[in-house]
Formats: sequence, C-alpha cells, structure tokens
Amino acid sequence: MSQQSKKATHRKPLIWWIDDDFDHESSDRRTLLEILNSTGRVQIVDIHPVDLGEKLSSNITPIPDLFLVDFKLITGQHPDKHIKFPFMALPAGGMIRDKFPERPIYLVSAVIGEEQAEKDADFFDRVLTLQKLTAEGADILSHDAEDYTAIRRVKNRLDIKPILRLLAVPSASTDSIKRVLPEPMRKGMGQAIQKGMNDIKLTYSKASGLYFAQWVRRELLRLPGPLYDDLYSATLLGMKVKYFKEKFTLKTNVEGCLYRGVFHRTTSRRWWQAALLEFISNIAAKEGKTVTDSWKLAPEIFKVPEEELSKCVVCDLPWPETVGEDLHNRDRREPAHWRCSLDDPRRQPQVHFETTRILLD
Ligand SMILES: [Zn+2]
Repeated sequence: MSQQSKKATHRKPLIWWIDDDFDHESSDRRTLLEILNSTGRVQIVDIHPVDLGEKLSSNITPIPDLFLVDFKLITGQHPDKHIKFPFMALPAGGMIRDKFPERPIYLVSAVIGEEQAEKDADFFDRVLTLQKLTAEGADILSHDAEDYTAIRRVKNRLDIKPILRLLAVPSASTDSIKRVLPEPMRKGMGQAIQKGMNDIKLTYSKASGLYFAQWVRRELLRLPGPLYDDLYSATLLGMKVKYFKEKFTLKTNVEGCLYRGVFHRTTSRRWWQAALLEFISNIAAKEGKTVTDSWKLAPEIFKVPEEELSKCVVCDLPWPETVGEDLHNRDRREPAHWRCSLDDPRRQPQVHFETTRILLD
C-alpha cells in the first residue's frame, strides 16, 4: 500500500449532521458537535435543513461517510434566510439516500421510544439518543464509519467470501452463517441483476452494502442463532451468567470464540455458538469424552462449583437448555428448560434463527 493510500484509509470519518438547532445561542447540539470534533476522531459538519437540498445537488468531495439527521426537525424558519423549510427527519433522510444509496444515515433523538422516532427507525440505519452520542459518540461514529467503509470497499459482491471475511466467521460457524443469510445474499452481498434480454452483464444493487449491514445489525447481532450473547452462552455451557462473565471467560482461552466482525466494537459482545461447542469438545476429546449435552459436560470439564451451575428459573432444577423471556417483562430473561418454556407467540419465527422462548408461569 502506498503512503498516500495509507493516509486516505486513515482520514477521520466525515459526518454531516442535519439539524435546525445549531444556531440558538445556547445550543446543546453545537456544544456536543464541538466536543466530538475536539476528540480528533471525527469531523462533523453542521448542515441546516434549509441548505440540505442545495448542498446535495452540488458536487460533493469527499462524500460524507455517515449522516446524522435530527428526529425533531420541524417545519420552521431559517434564522438568516427567512425561508420556510418543510423538512422532517424522514424526507431529509430520503433525500440523502437518493443521492448516496451506500451511505449510512443515523437518526438522532433526544429520547428513544418517542412514537415517531420508533416508526422512523426502520428507515434509518441506527437510532442514537443524545445521551448515547454524548457518552460514546466519538467511538460509535468513528468505528461504525470504518466498518461501513470496509463493507463499501468489497469489490466482488457476487461471492460469499467477502461476507465471511467481514463477519470474521470461524470455520466452525461457516455452515450456520450460510444457513441464516437471506436468500439474496447466499452467493454474495450483491444480488446479480441481468441487464436486458441480450445483455448478460451481471451487476448488483448499489444499496447492497447497506442491506447487508442492516441484516447484520437487526438480525445476526440481535437474534440467537450463529451468535449468542453472554446469557445464552453461559446457559449453553451450564453455568450462571455472572460466573461466565466474571470467572470463566478470564480463566480460559474462550475469548477466541468472540465475534470480531463488523460492528462488534459498537454492540455488546457476542460469541460464536459453534465455536463455543468446538472449544469444549476439543478439551473433552483430550479426556476421552464426547459432547452430547454441553450444559452438562462443560461444568464437569471446567470444574464449575455447584453453586455456580445454571438453574431453570421456572422449576429450579439444573441443566436448562435455553433462555426464556418473561411475558410480562420483556427485559427479564432467564435460563429455562425447553419443557418449562414455549415459543414466543409475539415474534414471527425467523427462518434458520432460533425461536425465542417465553417462560411458563
Ligand atoms: Zn425447568
């Protein structure tokens, strides 16, 4: 790599922040923007919504790596130009997407859960609260922008190898990833499109990179399947989640099973389920054992103390095989047996991902 291209690779992500609240005297948005820029990790430019159309129609170099759009854009008056602007967050996002179909757009909202913000969230690539932006903005924006760049740089979009590389899939999990990939991405992130009857030149949709990123964030990193969170992983290995987090992961080499693919730096950690099973079966093999029920064998191999063994929250007996959600309190998730839980009727079954369970009363 030449010195020049190396430099280009490491330039700070350029971000446009579309908001009508930068011009007030005591604008907390402006203060936040200045704080984020002072970290030296991002370069954020404020854009008033009135100027957005004109800016987008001009020749833009470099193209911003990421866009922030304020949820609370309201039809109002530009402070200097005396122009009314009819832009709300969604149309503003649409204008950006039309011009730059490969660039991520994040919705900034004071409070997540506002009805409209949730409704709009589907269009946007991520929703960030001001609070989160204040606490972790430089990390989130710079890391995510880098990951989106890595996705955009994939040249061969009609091949599955770049997908496996972007997700850093260990060999044990290759098959499970191939199974959960949506049909259009089974042979690469860009669906081949034939141009015309006689023109057999294959091409791909420009938006395919963003589509791939959305799938990673909304399904792969969220649903139990090839990737497990701490609670699912601890339950798979038959131990309490606190013990898994505070003891087990520190005294073994299990960290090799962590997900290190795109967006791993800005989401809570995930583990490759098949790699965890391979990890214990390799150790079990040395002791002449084979893995049938990992939740029984792992505590035996790793000598997990009795009081740290996972227990079913419903019947209080050992060896729960899965995790169940409390029907009355979705934030409460606990280990449970298959027989002490049932398929969550509120969720559409996701083909090839595991079904989420709810706890029996
Ligand atoms: Zn039970």
